[in-house]
Amino acid sequence: NRRILLAAHPQGLPRPADFRLDTQPVPTPAEGQVLLRTLYLSLDPYMRNLMDEIGPGYAPPIPLGAPVVGGTVNRVVASRHSRFQEGALVLGNAGWQDYALSDGSDLTPLGEMAQPSLALGGLGMPGFTAYVGLLDIGQPRPGETVVVGAATGAVGAVVGQLARLKGARAVGIASGPDKCRYAVETLGFDACLDRHNPHWAEDLAAACPDGIDVYFESVGGEVLDAVLPLLNSGARIPLCGFIAHYNERTTAGPDRLPRLLATLLPKRVRLQGFVVFDHYAERFEAFRRDMTTWVQAGDLTLREDMVHGLEAAPEAFIGLLQGRNFGKLVVRVAGD
Ligand code: NDP
Repeated sequence: NRRILLAAHPQGLPRPADFRLDTQPVPTPAEGQVLLRTLYLSLDPYMRNLMDEIGPGYAPPIPLGAPVVGGTVNRVVASRHSRFQEGALVLGNAGWQDYALSDGSDLTPLGEMAQPSLALGGLGMPGFTAYVGLLDIGQPRPGETVVVGAATGAVGAVVGQLARLKGARAVGIASGPDKCRYAVETLGFDACLDRHNPHWAEDLAAACPDGIDVYFESVGGEVLDAVLPLLNSGARIPLCGFIAHYNERTTAGPDRLPRLLATLLPKRVRLQGFVVFDHYAERFEAFRRDMTTWVQAGDLTLREDMVHGLEAAPEAFIGLLQGRNFGKLVVRVAGD
């Protein structure tokens, strides 16, 4: 059983030496357990927050020497559990390793899916994050302007497409001309600005002539700075993430708090933090139904960025924190 362990708490951007590959015998399930083979491993920005010594508050930090956590699509390869048969395909939390044991409490049966990795992306946690964040908190109305950063990523791509489906304008920010072209031409964004272009903030203002009604915050940093002066009265900000700062929680960054507060108050902006886990019980079924309908009707496109082999996970994850992924980042650990 190959496992990738957290060897050190990263200082700033993680380095390959912060991870260690080790090999253990494949474990044997006890009564009430199943043995899972990992087929696909999801790489997500929140993992960076769990690598710090002090966790982010919504989940415990990863202990040093433990496998890095992560959502997975697994095949049940041995079962001593009444609810899970050998051969079943499940959504699990096996983390960065080939095999894991589970008592079943964290497993969701997937049935046979044509593209099971989508359960880690647009049809799973990131897509659901976009759905509850935008529709329940952002509540875009026809004709309003919705802005989202990391616009071609797992969450952002769905945010933009849902905004369009609701009749709003969608304006994205992403890195590089290829991603920006894809956002407009394939995902249907009305505009997408390249954050590496020196004029991008002025271009954002030009792309939002009627101001911004919903800012889906997943980035922070310079994107937030450029958005603040463009917010309309009564704007909503679903606070989903702030990836530009995940590598700097231990170092001092420029203090944007006064500017943030001085914008929110006079403009009566509603800012709401949310953690997607809280919404599964009430909203996941509606999400799955709506999303499946939109994808099957061709109204919504889901792009994956697939890397191959468990050992590729650290470099791919480091790339995610620098915008090198193009679409939902997934590791293909083993064949279906
Ligand atoms: P993505 O697939 O979008 O990958 C991350 C992207 O972030 C990169 O490709 C890059 O896109 C962008 N990025 C990286 N560094 C920076 C930076 N310094 N400044 C601006 N952009 C940067 O990831 P996800 O869609 O999975 O996640 C997006 C956000 O949503 C994250 O903040 C994540 O933590 C959050 N999230 C929150 C959840 C919740 O429950 N609240 C649940 C799931 C996700 P580019 O280079 O193109 O700009």
